[in-house]
Amino acid sequence: MIRTGLGWDLHRLVEGRPLIIGGVTIPFDKGEAGHSDGDVLLHAIIDALLGAAAMGDIGEFFPPSDNRWKDVSSIDLLLQVREKLYASGWTIENIDCVIALETPKFLPWREAVRQKIAEALQISLDQVFVKAKTGEGLAPIGTSEAVSAQASCLLSR
Ligand code: MG
Repeated sequence: MIRTGLGWDLHRLVEGRPLIIGGVTIPFDKGEAGHSDGDVLLHAIIDALLGAAAMGDIGEFFPPSDNRWKDVSSIDLLLQVREKLYASGWTIENIDCVIALETPKFLPWREAVRQKIAEALQISLDQVFVKAKTGEGLAPIGTSEAVSAQASCLLSR
């Protein structure tokens, strides 16, 4: 049995917060607002994985109203989702993602992000890919008011 999953997320970019993408902190003068660490890419991946397995969504598992998830690392959330998937017999075949971010340039960080995600999910580097697009200067992505991410995944069982 194979299942595809799709995830999307968007966070405001604000001063005084770190920019964390795929578990990697990228130097920038703004970061994602959020109840957790605001890692937009991992949130999209979590929703893709949960959706493919028809298990629910990130808001059900980790609601912002629950203070256990305040400022939590989204890598920790991803590990919990990984355990749920693997406990149900799912294998992750691949994950592919697109980030929409005007600045800073993502390419220098791409391999570190792929590595971090692959390690967290216990899959190989060639099963994870991440690419970035700008917002062409158009609001809200292009004016660096927000960052968004999409993720797709394939699960098998
Ligand atoms: Mg989010």
